[in-house]
Amino acid sequence: MTSNVDALFARGGFAPDRVFTPQGDYGRYQCATPCIPSTWDSRPLITRLLAAYDPATGAVTDPSALPRCPNCGGEVEINVRIGPEFVDTPYLPAGRRLQQWLGTAHVDTRLLILEFGAGFNTPGVVRWPGEHLTRHFPHARLVRVNSTHPETPADLSGRTLPVPVEAGDLLDALTLPHLTPDPTETP
Ligand SMILES: [Zn+2]
Repeated sequence: MTSNVDALFARGGFAPDRVFTPQGDYGRYQCATPCIPSTWDSRPLITRLLAAYDPATGAVTDPSALPRCPNCGGEVEINVRIGPEFVDTPYLPAGRRLQQWLGTAHVDTRLLILEFGAGFNTPGVVRWPGEHLTRHFPHARLVRVNSTHPETPADLSGRTLPVPVEAGDLLDALTLPHLTPDPTETP
């Protein structure tokens, strides 16, 4: 579950269908209205647009290359959550899978929630849901890696671990050579 909208998890090797990105994806377009709940890969549209772009004048020489909604012909916009027109259809299945997986957990499930860099820009996407889950499962633990807002709710005392560092610094420290398995070693 991430608020990232650059498909960074998928580009980093995570299976896209196992990443819930409720804030959308900069790599997709949608109708600005929207007239239909569809989204489109932006790459072929951008490729076409660049071919019609004159860098000397900054003009698009072929107006038909401008991205348009294939259904209504209207303007398109990036498919990220910027207002009520946001089309969330592509992201709902992953959200449902996450809910189904959580639904298989029982009251004794020892859930470990690792949260990286979820502050207060959009706390409803990752930060608060993680706290709710920790509350819901009595044996859950929450690790909050956050350099500026590592604080955790008082009612979860004893079940949280605030780590007040930059996520990148922590991950770098965790991948130091002495911690990386030696490929020549026999398992
Ligand atoms: Zn449209």
